[in-house]
Parts: sequence; C-alpha cells; structure tokens
Amino acid sequence: MGKHYTLRVIFRGLLFYLAPFLLVGWYLGAVWQALSLALLLKLVWHYYFINRLTTWLWDSRTLLPPTGRGVWTDIFDGIYRTLRRNQSRQRSLSTLIKRFRQASEAMPDAAVVLKEDGTVTWANKLAQLYLGLQWPGDSGIRITNLIRNPQFVKFFKAGDFSHAITMHSPAHHVMDIEVRLMPYADNQYLLIARDVTQLTKLERMRKDFVANVSHELKTPLTVMQGYLEMIEEPEMLPAKQLNKAIHDMNAQALRMQNMVNQLLELSRIESSAPESFSEEVNLPQLIEQSLEEVSLLRQDKDHQIELHIDSSLLVYGNAEKLRTVIMNLLTNAIKYTPAQGHLTISWLRRHKSAQFKICDNGPGIDPIHQSRLTERFYRIDADRNSATGGTGLGLSIVKHALEAHRSRLELDSEPGKGSCFSFVLPPELVKPLALSKPSMEQTDH
Ligand code: ADP
Repeated sequence: MGKHYTLRVIFRGLLFYLAPFLLVGWYLGAVWQALSLALLLKLVWHYYFINRLTTWLWDSRTLLPPTGRGVWTDIFDGIYRTLRRNQSRQRSLSTLIKRFRQASEAMPDAAVVLKEDGTVTWANKLAQLYLGLQWPGDSGIRITNLIRNPQFVKFFKAGDFSHAITMHSPAHHVMDIEVRLMPYADNQYLLIARDVTQLTKLERMRKDFVANVSHELKTPLTVMQGYLEMIEEPEMLPAKQLNKAIHDMNAQALRMQNMVNQLLELSRIESSAPESFSEEVNLPQLIEQSLEEVSLLRQDKDHQIELHIDSSLLVYGNAEKLRTVIMNLLTNAIKYTPAQGHLTISWLRRHKSAQFKICDNGPGIDPIHQSRLTERFYRIDADRNSATGGTGLGLSIVKHALEAHRSRLELDSEPGKGSCFSFVLPPELVKPLALSKPSMEQTDH
C-alpha cells in the first residue's frame, strides 16, 4: 500500500526540503534567490521523473517500472500494480472467452452470435457446415444476407423468437435444420441450429406408416362391410352368391391377419436387442424345411427347383430370423414366377463367407423399382386385389432380419428374364470348416 499524500504531508515534505535553502539564503542575505533555486531544482527533478514515466509507458516493452525516488516511487508502484491487475483480469477474460469458444465448438449444434441489427459477431465450425457461413469472412455481415431462405428471413424480421423453425439447410439441401434464436448478453442474439434430418425422416415415416396401414385395411374392410350388408337380408341372396361372399370375406380376413402378423414380426425384428450369435443354425436343414412348408403354394405351379446346397455349411445366428428371410424369398419366387418356371437355390461358401441365392425366371423387376423394394408396403403391382395379394412388407422384414446378421439383401434382376435375390453372411458368422465336414448336394425338387 502506497503512502497517502494528504495536503499536510505534502506541505511538511516541502517544508523539510526548503528549510536548508531558506537557512543558507537567510545567512547569505539572499532568501528569494535561495527559494527560487530550490523550486527550480524541484521542478527539474519532477520533469526528470515525468520523462522516465512517459518513456516507460509508451516506449518500454517491459512491465517493470523504472526506479523512482520519493513520491515517484509510489507513483511508479501504483501504476505497476494497476497494470498487473489489468493484465491478470485480461488473462482470465481471454481464458474465459477461449473456454466459451471451445465449449461452443464441442456443442453438437451450430452457434452464431448476432448483434441487435442482425450482423454476425461470431460463428462456430458447425455454423459453417449447417448454415454455410464463412468465419471470420462473414463477420459484420447481416445474417439475412447470408441465409436467404424466405422462411428464415420472415422469422428473423417478425422478431418473435418464442418458437423454433425447421427448414432445409442452406448449405446441404438434403439436411433439415431446426433454428432457434434467443436473446443473449446485452442486445445480442444467439442463433442455434441443429440437424433434425433424422427426426423429420422418422416423423415422415411414421405418418406414411399410419397412412399405409389405414389404406391397406380400408380395402378388405370395405369389401367385408359390403358383403355383411348383403347378408343382413339373406332371403334376398341366392345360395351361390352367399357362398362367394363367405369365400371372399374369408380371403379378406386372411389378408388382414397376414398383414397384422407381418407388422408384428417387423416390429419384433426392429426392436430386438443386438444378437450375440451363439446359436448354431443349420441353414441347409432350414432350406429343406422351408421347401416343405411352401409345398401347398407350389402345388399348382409345377416349378422345377434346382438346389446347390453345401450341407456342411453351418452358421451362427438367429434361426427364427434366418427362417423368415428364407421363407419370404422363397414364397416371393414361387408367387411371382409363372407355372412351369425354373428356380435355383444355392447355399455355398464364398471365400470365408457364406452366400444364399435364389434365382427365378419370372417377370423380373424393373430397375426403377429395385432400390425401393425393401421399403415398407412397397409393391410393384399397386393393385391391392391382385392375384398375388401381397402386403409389400416381406422384403422389409428380410432387410431388417439380415441387418441383424450384418448382412444385406442383394438383387440382380432384368425385366422379362428373372430375378436373383441373395445375401452373404460374414466370415465371423460362418462355422469354421475344421469343425464341420464339407459335403455338397445338388438335387432337383
Ligand atoms: P409382397 O407381399 O407384395 O410380396 P414383398 O416386400 O415381399 O411384398 O415384395 C415387394 C415387391 O417386390 C412385390 O410386390 C413384388 O412385386 C416384387 N417381387 C418380390 N420378389 C419378386 C420376384 N421373385 N420376382 C418378381 N417380383 C418380385
């Protein structure tokens, strides 16, 4: 703590300084000259230290003060202390800003600080990715000149930031972002944008799903309702028509039951926990059983079925899910291939992996449909009362069941020539050869 310079202290100091001069002046009979000399010397002394002070403040690079004398020691110390205090404040402030920026960069959202007039003060890296801002190039530019989406401009100009808006990202058109604005510090705004592409996709899927299910149920229900109205007055209905009504209602009820079962299966597969794959699955046996199960469906078609099965090729997986995959692919091949058609089913090693393939010489699938086949309810034949009467859920179930086995459905098809559906199980799910004896079966069913 420096000395406190009250008027009394200053006066006493001056008196101590002048006393010897006054004494000598009085002795020599030149009091005024001695006084003037003393004051002149004091003035020169002060100017000397003022000069040292300005050199230190303006020219010196060091924070350390020059050595002073008397009152100047306290002045130099006082300034030095204030400078030190400011320096440490500045340091902690810049650490704080650095931390804020690091935190903003670590955020999974885009963040932009705006002034009251909408000019950009700061933006993090995700803002460049989501909003296409350039930092620091776009500093000082109005946000509405950088994001020209009419929905955003309207939102910003309206000034009601109590709700968020969802729009396409100006940087990536396939990305949907949710933009929120909130008052921040003094007359500033913080713009937060987060990627909601997945969320909006899920929401769209949910809406499509509900619409599809209701649409699918509407047709059989309308048919049944029509017949039931007719049956209300049985005396008006000839026996032949009554039989047809019962037959059709049965078919529609079966269709609805099928669909509900498939939906339940799809949701079971989708929501099941990741597999540990400790269960050994005898896929050759599973193919054999599936062929027996579809024998009724095959009856009228008289298909020729060629099998290339490695009966030693066993895998680890979920037998129920793999059975569903085989059954769906097999039923489709039988359903869509006209009578006397030819089917080839193979289950063989491909290097260290295992491949299942089912080929038919049916109608084939146009390339425009191929990428969409595994979507729920997607059918090529949109006629819901078609002879094949599918639900469009089968391949969607196959896709999910295969995903659980780190595999995916492959399709090779040419319209008019036929289709080959296949999947490959990865090496880690194939039972090693040393543990199973290889043997090959080639049969015609
Ligand atoms: P669906 O219940 O309609 O059979 P899927 O999801 O199993 O539903 O199949 C989707 C569509 O793919 C079917 O509507 C059908 O048009 C087509 N498809 C599937 N398998 C074959 C095949 N082997 N040959 C020709 N078209 C097929």
